[in-house]
This record gives sequence, C-alpha cells and structure tokens, in this order.
Amino acid sequence: MDIAQLTLDRIREDLIARRYSAAELATEALRLAEAENPKTNAYIHFCPERALDAARRVDGKIANGEDPGALAGAAVAVKDVIVTKDVRTTCGSRLLANYIPPYDATAVIRMERAGAMILGKANCDEFAMGSSNENSAFGAVRNPVDPERVPGGSSGGPAAAVAQGTAVVSLGSDTGGSIRQPASFCGVVGVTPTYGRVSRYGLVAFASSLDHIGPFARTVSDAAALLHAIAGRDEMDSTSAFAPVPDYRAGMNGGLRGVKLGLPREYFKGLASETGNRIEAGVGLLKKLGCEVREISLPATDYAIACYYIICTAEASSNLARYDGVRYTTRSASPPNLIDMYRASRGEGFGAECKRRIMLGTYVLSAGYYDAYYLKAQKVRALIARDFQQAFEKVDAIVTPVSPFPAFKIGEKIDDPMEMYLSDIYTITGDLAGIPCMSVPCGKTAAGLPVGMQILTNHFDEPGMFRIADAYERAGGFAGA
Ligand code: GLN
Repeated sequence: MDIAQLTLDRIREDLIARRYSAAELATEALRLAEAENPKTNAYIHFCPERALDAARRVDGKIANGEDPGALAGAAVAVKDVIVTKDVRTTCGSRLLANYIPPYDATAVIRMERAGAMILGKANCDEFAMGSSNENSAFGAVRNPVDPERVPGGSSGGPAAAVAQGTAVVSLGSDTGGSIRQPASFCGVVGVTPTYGRVSRYGLVAFASSLDHIGPFARTVSDAAALLHAIAGRDEMDSTSAFAPVPDYRAGMNGGLRGVKLGLPREYFKGLASETGNRIEAGVGLLKKLGCEVREISLPATDYAIACYYIICTAEASSNLARYDGVRYTTRSASPPNLIDMYRASRGEGFGAECKRRIMLGTYVLSAGYYDAYYLKAQKVRALIARDFQQAFEKVDAIVTPVSPFPAFKIGEKIDDPMEMYLSDIYTITGDLAGIPCMSVPCGKTAAGLPVGMQILTNHFDEPGMFRIADAYERAGGFAGA
C-alpha cells in the first residue's frame, strides 16, 4: 500500500474488500511516519498503541459486517494543541512538555468514532502563535517540498505530514490563517470552517473568539469528509452551532455555471509576481468552468492586521494566564517564594513569541488603553465582517491569494515579527468575520514552490465553497491551470 496515494474512499473500499486490514495499514503508516520524520520533524511524538487500538476496532466491525465508518482506517496526524486522553499534548511549548490530558477533544472523539486511527501528535508553533512553525519548543518543521524552507504555520506539522504522505488527512487549528497558510506552502488542501461549526472543546485556547479546528487533506473530497465527521453541535462548547451538518460531498457535481465570484481588489496588491500569475490562471480556469467573475472591494482590509494582532494578543494574554507552574505545567526548579515561582515558571517555560503576545495583550487590555486599542479593534472587526456581508449580497464566493509569497527560507523572517505578521494579511480577515474559507493548490512557481488559492463563502456555506473547490480540482487546477 502506498499511503501517499491513498484517499479515504479508497481505504474504505480496500478494507471492505479485505485487500489489507486496518491493523496492517496502521502498522505500515506508523513505520513510514517514524522513518520519514527526521526529514521534516512533522510529528512531536507518536501514539502507536492508540492507532492500533483504533485499527482493531475497525477490523472488528468489518469482521462483523458492520459499517466501519466514513473515516475507516484513515491514518491521521493531530496538531498538538488538540488534547488527546492519555497521550502527551504539548502545544509546542516547553511548559507543557509533560502534560498528559485526562480527556479527549470532541473532534478527536468524533474522528475516532468514524474509524480514524491517530498516528501521533503533529508539531506546531507554540500555542499556535506563528506563521512558520519556527516557534515550536520541539524544533522547526521543514517543508517536504523543500527542506530549506518553512512549511508555514502554525499548523506546519499537520500540513507537512499530509504533504509528505505519512498521514492521509490531519487536523489543524486556525486563528488567523494557521490552516490555510501552511496548506498553501505545502501544496495541500486546508479548510477553516465557519466559526462554531466544529466544537472547540479540547482545543487549547489561543484566542477563543477566533480559534477554529479544521482539516488538511490531499483532495477536496477528503477534506469535506473529515469536516463532516467532526462538525456539529456539541454541548461541551456553548459557541458550537446548532445548524444541521449537510453532506458536503453530495453537492459536488463539477458544475459551476452561473456561480458569481468576487475578486477583492485589496487582496491583489503587493503580491509576489509568480503568486499573482498562479492566482490569475486559477481564476481563468474557474471562468472556463462557468463562473462569472467581477471585481469587488473589501475596504476595511487595510486595518485587518492591526485589528487581529490587538484582539488575538488580548485574548491570548488572558488564556495563557492559567499556565502558572501550579496546574498543568512544568514548575521552575527551586523558587524562593510563590510570586517568584509564578514568574520563574512562566519566564522559563514560554518562548519569545508567547511572551511578546502576553505583554502586548496585557497592554491593550489595561486601564486607559482598553478604549483606544481593544475597543477600537472590536469596532474594526465589525467593519471587516460587514464588508463580507455586503459582498455576499452580490457574489456567491470570494477568491483571493492565501499568502502574498510562497514558502520562505527557514530563518528568513524570524527576527522580524512585523514582516512575519504580514504572511497572514489575506487569511486573518476570514477568521475575524467567522466565515468558511479554504486553501486549494493552484500550481507551483518556477522554483517548484506550491501556491495556494483561497475560496471564501458566507457563514455555513461550506457546501458552496466545497463545490467550487471540487470542480476546480476535477478540472486539473491543483497542478496549475
Ligand atoms: N500566524 C498567525 C499568528 O501568528 C495565525 C496563527 C493561527 O492561526 N493560529 O497569530
């Protein structure tokens, strides 16, 4: 079996036809993932027992003639900010290097119930803060396409695992672009669903009003199937939506006639030229498939980065306050008193980017600055959301680049946080508005670096988004139109 070529449907079919067992597939996937890991550092650790247990459950069902589930035998990597019972969950942080959660995230429970086998926990930027996966306490991740380059962040590990072919699909999290940007850098599909579509229960909080769990896959159909398995109301997360979960794959029929697409002019300034050319070709293919394309404007876009980095740091400073050396975390060796214990545990445990954000967030929330920064940013967030609502009165979907440039070299931007923050310029608006958005591959630059095209639709219109992405894939768009 060639794991890099497998899709979810194929695996299910093979298992039911008894071409191999789930246990054989899990064993081979674990062997391959461990053997390949030194090339990318995509996994922080593996959980073979858990994968094999899941495999045995799938094999048992098949032996009994029961339905083994939509994700039967899917070899999955899970970003290490998503908790797994009895399996170490580090959040890419030295602070949680030894944290073993006593419960599973809802998305993990649902995925395993559908037959998925978790191979291991995937590397990421510390507490999901970053755009290059260089902020992990467990070492940077290398892009499987070019090991000198970053895989993007913060879900660099889950993206690299799928691109490298060691996992069939993976789970990531997206607060400002952390699924779509690494998907675009690694040449795979990455989906950020509507805010509240997937329960956040068991996703370690970074910025709660922006955090999403979502899938990585090599095909649109696999991404849709994984999302379908994990989506839906969960009593453990009061922000999870009650809206019924449609069968996303049912609407994928290849037809796009009359679909209205908007190209926001603010997203096409300052693009690396090859990125611009790839997106232009992608839009050309969508036109050929029957889409009507028009230019639109999302005027509040210019304020998005400032708005995002105020809101996300404010929420992060509050969410990260719980890591105090008493609960969850490693404690500093021998502090003289309680206050110094807090200080030293946090000081030694958090990396530079987390400290920077805690300080910024505390500042924007402090008395005297709250109105000037935090409240203002909330107002700008409402404007950004309104821009999208007005656009969706005229168009069905919006198409943009995912990142202004393809994967950059490891070390290239690490000393310049402002430059790094610019990586997210086209992705953070979707999170601020809470709308579904995804990255699909749209060819490569002359140097062979993947470029991603972003598709955004209105709240809960994942079916519309998947339909466009799937038609585009069927027409050969992933290889470059
Ligand atoms: N790169 C962005 C940040 O550093 C987004 C991170 C994310 O989506 N988790 O905040």
